[in-house]
Amino acid sequence: MSVNAYETTNHFIDQGLSALKLDPRYRTLLLTPTREVRVELSMLLDDGSLANFIGYRVQHDDARGPFKGGLRYHPSVELDEVRSLASLMTWKTAVVGVPFGGAKGGIQCDPSKLSSRELQRLTRRFVDAIGGVIGPQTDIPAPDMNTNGQVMSWIFDQYSKRFGFSPAVVTGKPVHLHGSLGRDAATGRGCMIVLREVLKADGKQLAGTRVAIQGFGNVGSWLARLLYEAGAKVVAVSDVNGGVHNGDGLDILKLLEHVAETRRVPGFAGGQHLNPGELLAVDCDVLVPAALGHVLDQTTARNVRAKYVLEGANGPCTIEGDQVLQERGIVAIPDILTNAGGVTVSYFEWTQNIQQHAWSEADVNSRLEVYMVAAHDAVQNVRREYGCTLRTAAFILGISRVKEATDARGMD
Ligand code: NAD
Repeated sequence: MSVNAYETTNHFIDQGLSALKLDPRYRTLLLTPTREVRVELSMLLDDGSLANFIGYRVQHDDARGPFKGGLRYHPSVELDEVRSLASLMTWKTAVVGVPFGGAKGGIQCDPSKLSSRELQRLTRRFVDAIGGVIGPQTDIPAPDMNTNGQVMSWIFDQYSKRFGFSPAVVTGKPVHLHGSLGRDAATGRGCMIVLREVLKADGKQLAGTRVAIQGFGNVGSWLARLLYEAGAKVVAVSDVNGGVHNGDGLDILKLLEHVAETRRVPGFAGGQHLNPGELLAVDCDVLVPAALGHVLDQTTARNVRAKYVLEGANGPCTIEGDQVLQERGIVAIPDILTNAGGVTVSYFEWTQNIQQHAWSEADVNSRLEVYMVAAHDAVQNVRREYGCTLRTAAFILGISRVKEATDARGMD
């Protein structure tokens, strides 16, 4: 049976709900998104032709604070996927303990086929369309797949034209435009910290650990660099074009130079070529999906040769894929813990914008360390208490914190 991303997320939430034995009425309350916005974005392309795009913003839950979540530009963006990602944000912000709820958005488009001017027009149209439901105290977007500091700058600018100077409406901005030092590396750094802590809990260490990473964008490339600096061996890396493999460990600094020059991983001289898809079956200790969702399914999960799967991407495992990993004794370190470093430093950026005071990079990184270690320890404690997987433990923790906030606010 193949189910969509939203059903997959709800399945994992249900595992947390049943472990908690919550009153069933909470299920509907916690699963149903608060608001779903779908907008048509029509605009003229550079050649004068007319194009229509569909954009979404799903606001899942704001019991613990303003809605918060990234914006994705990708041809596969559709409502169920955005719902799933918005829901994951609710549990992620709760697991890592930042005072936000969960949201997600995106535009169904192929940004590689749009010029920079077209992307800018599209982004401004989107802000015009959803401007009424986002804001520094209501919903704060951030980068996700195929969006970056430039896109966030356009959002800040367009929103500020209508509502006045509002840097805190969006995070992931460039440092020279009210962004935070350390935000770019934050998700990769958070992944590295969580992996280090999980290995430590199992009596292991990062140094010498062999890692394979699918995706060499923001998350994958920062994680690769930080692991390399920590003495781990990054044995394989891939992007949408293919990958490279070197059993002795890739020289990540040289690979970063190669990618900066050519915009692609394949063609790097320091390793053997991998075809797309081969990366997930590479022999390693830790496999990191850091690109798309649902890449580890019933079939691909059987070929995994790692002991740990560190979920850099959101929702990389299907229900069946997760089951296969469990049956094979492979530990999945869940997305709502692993990749929470991004939203944590987004929280720091939002705080700095509101304080109108910039923190040093050392300050950002040391506070991130505290949040990530605390989140890891809390998830491990729940795992021990309930005798469950790390994924279910993370959902139990997230659900408990959102329920507590919901109860404290009260209902009439
Ligand atoms: P990105 O756009 O910077 O990079 C995506 C990478 O994935 C690119 O290298 C691309 O070539 C590669 N890719 C795309 N399709 C692929 C395929 N079929 N096979 C192999 N590689 C493929 O995106 P990102 O910001 O690094 O996000 C990656 C994942 O991490 C997404 O699931 C995102 O939701 C999640 N995430 C990102 C952040 C963040 O702060 N950027 C935070 C939390 C979670």
